[in-house]
Order: sequence, then structure tokens, then C-alpha cells
Amino acid sequence: MSEGYPRVDFRNGARGILTWVEVHGTRPVPASLEILRPARELADKLATEVTSVLIGSGVGATAREVIAHGADRVIVVDDPRLAEYLVLPYASVFSEIIRSHRPEIALFGATTSGRELAPRIASRVRAGVTADCTHLEVGDFLWKRRKTIMHPCLEAIRPSYGESKLATIVGFWCPQMATARPGAFAPLPADPARRGEILELMPRLAPDDFSVSILETVRAARGADGLFSAEVIVTGGRPCGELDSFELVRSLVRVLQERGVRSEWGASRQAVDAGYVPHERQIGQTGKTVRPKIYVAVAVSGAVQHLAGMKESGSVVAINKDPAAPIFKNADFGIVGDYREVLPLLVERVRSGFLFGLAVPHPTGAELETARTA
Ligand code: FAD
Repeated sequence: MSEGYPRVDFRNGARGILTWVEVHGTRPVPASLEILRPARELADKLATEVTSVLIGSGVGATAREVIAHGADRVIVVDDPRLAEYLVLPYASVFSEIIRSHRPEIALFGATTSGRELAPRIASRVRAGVTADCTHLEVGDFLWKRRKTIMHPCLEAIRPSYGESKLATIVGFWCPQMATARPGAFAPLPADPARRGEILELMPRLAPDDFSVSILETVRAARGADGLFSAEVIVTGGRPCGELDSFELVRSLVRVLQERGVRSEWGASRQAVDAGYVPHERQIGQTGKTVRPKIYVAVAVSGAVQHLAGMKESGSVVAINKDPAAPIFKNADFGIVGDYREVLPLLVERVRSGFLFGLAVPHPTGAELETARTA
């Protein structure tokens, strides 16, 4: 029916994909490297380039790493006044770059800062932002009322209606802006041989950009960041807080770590809301999105909002005393039983070499020592 409708390229000369490389100190945060995967894939489909913006103090050396992870060009804005993230000057720098480079798409990690910065920039450059995306594609949009096919649109896809539906959001203004949930995309493997261009920019900043100043920065303990790189995540539900303060969940993680497996523990929202566990360990729609090789759900019911944060896991092992618990419908392996009986047995099995079928683990400190002295 749409045959014969005119195809309208609405970009009006805007080209290329822009991403923000958020840094802590001089190190890129994982979400900034993750966003380079969809940026690269979109750029390849659109036959265009990825330009990343790196703002901070002493960050020049990080540019190579950004190129190794998929950028074609890095704009480095190195200024001691910008050592710590501040929304006003960062938004000014970005708006200046958007006006001069005219990208068709701009992507940000949906970190605390990314969620603040992206809409601030959007309001300055008169664009819109789709927040918290889990998929990013390009495609055509059939605008029935106007009998027109708009292309090429950024299809910003995000869960909605309590994760029960996926909404695809498009807009016909450039830059088309989106933030992506941390953990939703796996970073591309670093390729140190990749070549790219590094540009330096001296931004035009006004005194008003510094009307807020940072007196002190206190970074939280980084334990829960390991959830994004863990091979095994053991997550406890509310009962694990109630019955043993997560001791058994943590003991399984400890013994896996002792065997050299990168492991972390997480929690359901009920366990967090009840105050047993800090929010930084929550998995799910309003927590972290993770994709470990093995996800062990211990006394977790399997609510749709929880599944939203772990359904990309390699294999799911569920332990629940209720055989009708929904988590079993989403598990590759199920154990029906009281976790207080099952977990001690599992801990023993791991001690004697069972590693959930994972390939050769990293050698433990003790094993390295033995090998060295042998
Ligand atoms: P429960 O639902 O109480 O389930 C406990 C499970 O443990 C049951 O299946 C029970 O059979 C089993 N059990 C009990 N005792 C034992 C035992 N001794 N041994 C073995 N099994 C046992 N939830 C999230 O997890 N993450 C989110 O990000 C999230 N976001 C949300 C956002 C919104 C807008 C809303 C409305 C809800 C959200 N939720 C989220 C909450 C979600 O709907 C569920 O309420 C929550 O996931 C349930 O947590 P739970 O499985 O620990 O607890």
C-alpha cells in the first residue's frame, strides 16, 4: 500500500554519530565503551562515522582506547576546569560540537550523569531524547497521514508498560538522541590496531557555565560495578535477606572467586526495598541490566521486572521451593528446594571443582604460588 509513497531523507545534511565518553578521573566508565557497539553498528549501516567526545583533565591518552573500542574520531576537550563532570559546561561543550559537526545521531550511556546531560543538551539544540534504550536500530518510518516514508530513522527501542512491551520511538529532527541502559550492550573487544583521528578542542565557556562548583567528590565503593563484568552472578530474593542476611548467596560467590571465576552477587528489588541490600546491587527494570554467562537466581520469584535485567544471561539456574514459581519458565536448569539446603551442597560442589561448565578459569593466587614454587 505504501508503494509509490515518496521517501524523504529528513536529515537535512546532518551526518555521523556522536557519543559521549564519560570518565571517572581519566578512565572511561563501562557504559561509555558499551555505547560504542550500537554506535559502530549504526554507523556501518548508515555508511558514516562515529565521533566520540572526551571531556576532562589529562584525558588525552584515553582517546586511543576509545578508538580501539570502535570510534573513528575522538574530540578531546582537555581543561582542568572540566576535570569533574558538571552539567552546565559539559552541555555547553556538547552543544557547540553538535552545532559545528551536525551529527544525525547522538548517544549517551544512561548513567546518572548521562541521564542528566542528554536532555540538557537536547533542550539547547532543540532535539528530543529517548531514555533508557535497550536496542538501537535504523529503519524507515511510514508516515501514513502524510503518505510519506521518512528515512533513515533512528529506531530507539525501550521497554515500556512495566517491561511487558517494547516501544520503538522515532523523531524526524537531528540529532536524534538516545541514552542506553548500562549493561544493555556488550562493548566491542578492544582492537589496538584500529586507526582513528584525534582532534583537540578549546571550548568557548562563559563564567555562567561555572555558576555551580564542586567542593568535594566522594566516590562510593565500587563493589557492585563488578556485576557488569562477572561471569557468574548469584542473585538472592527477599527470603535470602530475611532468613540468613544473604550469607549463603555470598558464600557461593566467595568460593567461586576463590576458584578464579569472576563472580558477584545481586538482589531482587524486594530484598533492596526491605533494606537487606543496597540499591546498587539490584537487578532488573529499575536496577542493573546484566548479562553474565551464568545467572543463579536464589529464592527469586521471577517477576517480569526482574527478568528485564537478566534475560540476556547465558544460562539461568533457578533455585526455588515453589515448583510453580515463574522463574522456572525462564530457567535453563531448575532446582526445587529450600535454598538453605541447596546452596551449602552447591558450595561444596564448587570447592571440589564444579564451575557451572565454564571454561578454564583464571588461576587463583594459591595456584599461581604453587606453580611458581613447583
Ligand atoms: P518474592 O516475590 O517475595 O518471591 C520470593 C520467592 O522466593 C518466591 O518465589 C518463593 O517461592 C521463594 N522462596 C521463599 N522461601 C524460599 C526458600 N527458603 N528457598 C527457596 N525459595 C524460597 N523487581 C526486581 O527484582 N528488580 C527490579 O528492578 C524491579 N523493578 C520494578 C519496577 C516496577 C515499576 C515494579 C512495579 C516492580 C518492580 N520490581 C522489581 C518488583 C517485582 O515486581 C517483584 O515484586 C520482585 O522482583 C519480587 O522479588 P522477590 O522474587 O525477591 O520476592
